[in-house]
Amino acid sequence: MNNTELIKKLNKERNLSEKEWIQIFDTYDEEDLEYAMDMAHEITVARFGRKIYFRGIVEFTNVCRNDCYYCGIRAGNSNCQRYRLEKEDILKCCEDGYEHGFRTFVLQGGEDPHYTKEVMTDIVRAITERYPDCAVTMSIGELDRDFYQALYDAGARRFLLRHETADAAHYGILHPKEQTLSSRMRCLKDLKEIGFQTGCGIMIGSPGQTSEILAKDMMFMADFKPEMIGLGPFIPHKDTPFKNEPAGSVEKTLLVIALCRIMLTDALIPSTTALGTVEAEGRQKGVLAGCNVVMPNLSPMEVRKKYMLYDGKVGTDMSAEAGIRALRSQMEEIGYEVIVARGDFQKR
Ligand code: SAH
Repeated sequence: MNNTELIKKLNKERNLSEKEWIQIFDTYDEEDLEYAMDMAHEITVARFGRKIYFRGIVEFTNVCRNDCYYCGIRAGNSNCQRYRLEKEDILKCCEDGYEHGFRTFVLQGGEDPHYTKEVMTDIVRAITERYPDCAVTMSIGELDRDFYQALYDAGARRFLLRHETADAAHYGILHPKEQTLSSRMRCLKDLKEIGFQTGCGIMIGSPGQTSEILAKDMMFMADFKPEMIGLGPFIPHKDTPFKNEPAGSVEKTLLVIALCRIMLTDALIPSTTALGTVEAEGRQKGVLAGCNVVMPNLSPMEVRKKYMLYDGKVGTDMSAEAGIRALRSQMEEIGYEVIVARGDFQKR
């Protein structure tokens, strides 16, 4: 079968064999990409309309105990100026966000031991009590099951934890040996079992990624059925071991987005900041490839430049309000409306 036939098959069966996935990643051309994007876009419009959900992301700490080789806020980066936002600062971000129409707050940070189970659940509870009409999404890495359960009990309902790669050896290229794929998978399984809407995902073009590995990622996602999928190009950061590695391509990122949409038609897929960073029109293209979420930054101006996961991150010199305005007009440019709604996952 040629690639367009494989894409049609994916649309019918919602999965492909390992060999078929590898063929697509190895041999796709411009036409195949266009075909996949058009199909994914059609599916997205039929399912969600020309509407984009928006989530406000609060980057509340850049302190991290981990040393992921790709990430600018890794423990080993001594050039990174560290910061933490306390409860009141975080609540202030939510207050601003609420006024601008946000109904989902994403709390993202490094794995910072300062935020113990008690501290973190207290913050989550304060947000959910103050904004009962809003969803709280966590993106704070690997924790034990008790901790995840406590966050759920405090009112958090979504959790983003990219698996980064479904191949154990590749996981080992991206992380020090203390961090393992099996631990990451344990976390994802726990999160789902507890009842979180769970997000996994990958960077496209991370060092060592091959078509075989991307095939494994697709098969993992077909099986795991994440409610959310985070996908963006890898972008090097100057203070990491990967500083000289090339960034992932926009085209391949769009291909993976489109294939994920065709495979998991109900999923919430954000058009990421990383995609908007490698190309000015990146986020619009993401939407045209099947994304249905954008995540403007709600972090205070003073800390924006310190939450640098990769070089050149867009939006760090804009206020929350200006960032939202910019995103809104980017979406309007392509005929989309940014909508005020919690936008929970719904299976059809
Ligand atoms: N500590 C949290 C949040 C990590 S940041 C956690 O572990 O989940 C969120 C995502 O940003 C990561 O999962 C990773 O896929 C992505 N990221 C980190 N460094 C990046 C880089 N250099 N280029 C592109 N994406 C990156």
